[in-house]
Amino acid sequence: MGKKTTHKFKAEVSQLLDILVHSLYTNKEIFLRELISNASDALEKVRFKSTADGVEDEIAPEIRISSDKDAGTITITDTGVGMTRDELMRNIGTIAHSGTAELTRMAQEGADSLDALIGRFGVGFYSVYMVASEVTVTTRSIEPDAVPISWVSDGRTDYKLQELDPESVENLPRGTRIEVKLNEDMVSQFANDAALKNIVNKHSNFINFPIFVGEEQVNTVTALWREPKFQITEEQYAEFYKFLTFDSDEPFDTLHTSVDAPVQFNALMFTPKSGDDPFGMGRENRGLDLYVRRVLIEKQNKDLLPEYLGFVKGVVDTEDLPLNISRETLQDNLLIRKISSTLVKQVLGNLEKMAKDNEDRYVEFWQAHGNLFKAGYMDFLNKDKFGKLVRFNSSFNEDAKGLTSFADYIARAKEDQKEIYYAFGPSREALGLSPYLEVFRKKGIEVLYLYEPIDEFVMDSLRDYEGLTLVSAEHAEMETLDKFETLEKEEKPEGLSDDQKSTLDKLLVRIKDVLGDAVTEVKASQRLSSSPVCLANPDGNVTSSMDKIMRVVSK
Ligand code: ADP
Ligand code: MG
Repeated sequence: MGKKTTHKFKAEVSQLLDILVHSLYTNKEIFLRELISNASDALEKVRFKSTADGVEDEIAPEIRISSDKDAGTITITDTGVGMTRDELMRNIGTIAHSGTAELTRMAQEGADSLDALIGRFGVGFYSVYMVASEVTVTTRSIEPDAVPISWVSDGRTDYKLQELDPESVENLPRGTRIEVKLNEDMVSQFANDAALKNIVNKHSNFINFPIFVGEEQVNTVTALWREPKFQITEEQYAEFYKFLTFDSDEPFDTLHTSVDAPVQFNALMFTPKSGDDPFGMGRENRGLDLYVRRVLIEKQNKDLLPEYLGFVKGVVDTEDLPLNISRETLQDNLLIRKISSTLVKQVLGNLEKMAKDNEDRYVEFWQAHGNLFKAGYMDFLNKDKFGKLVRFNSSFNEDAKGLTSFADYIARAKEDQKEIYYAFGPSREALGLSPYLEVFRKKGIEVLYLYEPIDEFVMDSLRDYEGLTLVSAEHAEMETLDKFETLEKEEKPEGLSDDQKSTLDKLLVRIKDVLGDAVTEVKASQRLSSSPVCLANPDGNVTSSMDKIMRVVSK
């Protein structure tokens, strides 16, 4: 036996532990989900390594859970990669994740989504201290000649490490054993097999390795995405979705596909009901899990779907990639690119169908994910599909919630109208009063209302839709607009008298004098009817809102 050494927790761990130890959070059972998911990760690493090296693993991959009511303990054992002394110190005792401060803050505020937070922030192990007075980790690494080592802590200020005599560690040929000494008031709730089976069924049913509670295997190890669609119930999909995302809600939409050409793959993709990412982790927390013949190659792969489809969660499994592909070479892999372009088409096609079959449902989708989706203006390959799916508020909608597609706009457009007009503004109210839009209101020409900076990028990159040019209302040519009749005939003002003309000319010169270089020109216009003046752009310049964006960016 090696000598026992004592190590202090890193400050951020202490802080987090303090919260977890004193947590009044009621859903404490999720600690088991976290320990099982770590065991599963460790087993995936072994599977990945042995398939990559092409050597058969002799040790059966499994997770075993047992309980002892009298001792008040639960033990979770896996035959995964295990940890060396260095790894143990690095992985348990410090937190690599940068979002920890955020998590701590949210946990302090008593967020009821603590369980989702724990899973997503990668601080799962420590959640065991919601129920434990002491935890002992015994681990034997897959590294050749690894010495088993133990880690013990009550989760307060420090932990103890000790190297063990290899002969003395029984029933652990490789992997990790975690012995949880339960708080007294937790023993009756957790230290029995029936309760543990229940929890495993609820949270860990889709784990890819057999989980035994006592002698009985509890989960059914199936890759749901490879099962034929007609055999899968809505409940199974929902259960899998919740397992995958930590969402407590049902998925909004499920897309299960199987493709044989040009590449073979199965995909199971979900759209969540809500799009806000309360954790501000949208970018990090996106991507599909990539499997090759049921072996997990990479969680949340970022190359299978572009960022604007980041709301899609799910799994892709292919037969066509070699198992020994390294995560590093995935990025510029031709097959991945082929899978990706097919997936993008499937997701967009599915949305098109939704919009066509059930506009209300599409509106729901748009309200949750539309803002992220708009970044798809950069996907030039799918420009046409994107144009069909994008929505804006419009002067013809009843309120700011209304949504208009380009197709809606065209269906309502004037005869001979060759342009689609849009205007950028802070709100519907402001645009409703904007002097630039007076002429449009007068003539009953629809204007799409843009409220978000990204909307203007969308318009700039699309440029046209089904032959109609997208034109900023600020830039619309008076001659073009003049073609369209005014709705209510108003009294045309009499032409100006010579006297009035010369007064007006003097006024214009005076205004230009006062404003100096701030403006290029001051001129009289027929554009306005009730407003006295407005700022206009000299032709070819960016719109005033784009100008604002560029000023901010170039600061
Ligand atoms: P995460 O799983 O998100 O990385 P955790 O707090 O759950 O965060 O675990 C921290 C780290 O401890 C893991 O990344 C892993 O390296 C290590 N670890 C935890 N449990 C095990 C285990 N059973 N076998 C091997 N390594 C483990
Ligand atoms: Mg974990």
